[in-house]
Amino acid sequence: MSTQRVYLHDDQCVTTIATVQAVVDGAFTVEQSPFFVGGGGQPCDIGTVDGVVISGVSVDADDWVWHQSVAALTVGQQVELCVDAPRRAILSRYHTALHVLNTLAMVHYQAWITGAQMTTDYARIDFAMPWLDPVVLADLELRMNETLAANHAVRAYTMPPAEFAQRPDLIRTLNVKPPVYHGVVRIVEIVGFDGQACGGTHVRHTREVGACTIFKSENKGKQNKRLYVRFAD
Ligand SMILES: [Zn+2]
Repeated sequence: MSTQRVYLHDDQCVTTIATVQAVVDGAFTVEQSPFFVGGGGQPCDIGTVDGVVISGVSVDADDWVWHQSVAALTVGQQVELCVDAPRRAILSRYHTALHVLNTLAMVHYQAWITGAQMTTDYARIDFAMPWLDPVVLADLELRMNETLAANHAVRAYTMPPAEFAQRPDLIRTLNVKPPVYHGVVRIVEIVGFDGQACGGTHVRHTREVGACTIFKSENKGKQNKRLYVRFAD
């Protein structure tokens, strides 16, 4: 047995009733949790258990999700887990924006991702893209906002690793293996635009992201360019 990760099937769910399965000093685990565990540049969720702060989560080798909290809990106790929903929503918007941006960079400029990081204030993404210049930047920003405004639906589904291996179009990074979880690869699809392997959380429709601006770019070595994105309003 391990913790069922609710967000993999329903990334809009931010509250779950669960039963405490184990408690150690400063952390506890449950049979199901809405907390995103972190990965792909998206930080883990924070929130509360019965109103007491959960400052972060981690996953152990047996796939239990441990919630860091000073709450006094006992095994078998039923608890209410609440994700910090406004924070999750911002991270999901940035995460979805990066899907759009990385697909445009790949399709129009053949740029692979070399890194990504989301915060509640901005997101950044690194591309192997030595040919980046102000014209390319402006084109990417324009295309990104056109795509977001087109309000594509966003959905997640899974496929076997063997099928995934036949779909190079679903890969955006060369230096990270796709996450295989419970024997399947999770694909996040922006319907009518793209699909890519991803274990994170996203919005349901691209217009929920809102308009974005690429407000800064930096050189990170000879090949890599770092682009910073934030909401325009
Ligand atoms: Zn994603």
